[in-house]
Amino acid sequence: MPISIKHSTGVDWLPKLLVIDDDPNAHDLTDYYLNTVVSEMLHAFAGDEGIRIAETSLPDVILLDIEMPGMDGFQVCRRLKENDATRNIPILFLTNDKQRRHIVKALDYGGSDYVTKPFFPEELQARVRSALRTKRANDALREQALFDPLTNLANRRAFDEGLNASIADYTRNGHEFCLLLLDLDHFKAVNDTYGHGVGDEVLTQVGAAIRKRSRRYDVTARYGGEEFGLILNQTEPSEAWDIGQRVLEAIRQLSIFADDQQLRITASAGLASTLSCCTEIDAKQILQQADDALYEAKGQGRNCMMEAAGLLR
Ligand code: GH3
Ligand code: MG
Ligand code: MG
Ligand code: MG
Repeated sequence: MPISIKHSTGVDWLPKLLVIDDDPNAHDLTDYYLNTVVSEMLHAFAGDEGIRIAETSLPDVILLDIEMPGMDGFQVCRRLKENDATRNIPILFLTNDKQRRHIVKALDYGGSDYVTKPFFPEELQARVRSALRTKRANDALREQALFDPLTNLANRRAFDEGLNASIADYTRNGHEFCLLLLDLDHFKAVNDTYGHGVGDEVLTQVGAAIRKRSRRYDVTARYGGEEFGLILNQTEPSEAWDIGQRVLEAIRQLSIFADDQQLRITASAGLASTLSCCTEIDAKQILQQADDALYEAKGQGRNCMMEAAGLLR
């Protein structure tokens, strides 16, 4: 699965905690002591189950037992740290006094901290709060690094990351994907006529229109100044074509006024796909194909979409 580039939970943060421990008692106690610290508690009683829940639910902090039948805590930690999606979730190891010698190994495996059993409730709560503070600060930094503040879409860096992840997914698993590039038409004239502030407002509204029409696993990005990129994962070209047409229509329908006049905003688009590329596909190749198709759409008079050669015929 390609990485998904999503915003962190934001202002009203409702942190989620996952407990992975074979001892039911540990679950009862963490439930009891931590229900005021987190908003949601998830439970796994074995290592493999814990990994599955972590990957699907993306908790904000994990309490991880060391000794468990089957996969032990160290193996679970290693697997979670190997996966891009779960790497940034802080792991607090649960140890008992007899396992103190494991603490060094736990931290070296990527654990953020540890809590000893039997729990000292205030300490457990304080360590979880501390891990959540760090997680939240890291999420905010990551968001700043990956999102464009004007449109709230992924920025160029995140787009490049997403494109590389999709290419890796295609190379490894054969999952086809499509790439759509959009460029606003005669946008310079909007700035020149109405000013940069109105231009910015148009970009914001175009960003919102694009995001509204995207699906969970799509990456929607502001690729450049007035250019947008959509990575449509595991999507057939004909479906991507329909999505592109809907986005272009949504942009035509935007209702933005300046100097008592309704602006007429349109965009041109170019569509490419892994199916239109050579087998040894790389980012440069598929971007070039989408860009060529976009250039053709501009040549056709703008306000339309073209596809890479042979893609839909
Ligand atoms: P075409 O249909 O050929 O794409 O014409 P165009 O005018 O859209 O293309 P051109 O590349 O000449 O101009 C792009 C304009 O986008 C120029 C630039 O000032 C504007 N732009 C880029 N980034 C921003 C931004 O962040 N805010 C605003 N307001 N304008 C921006
Ligand atoms: Mg145990
Ligand atoms: Mg442009
Ligand atoms: Mg343009």
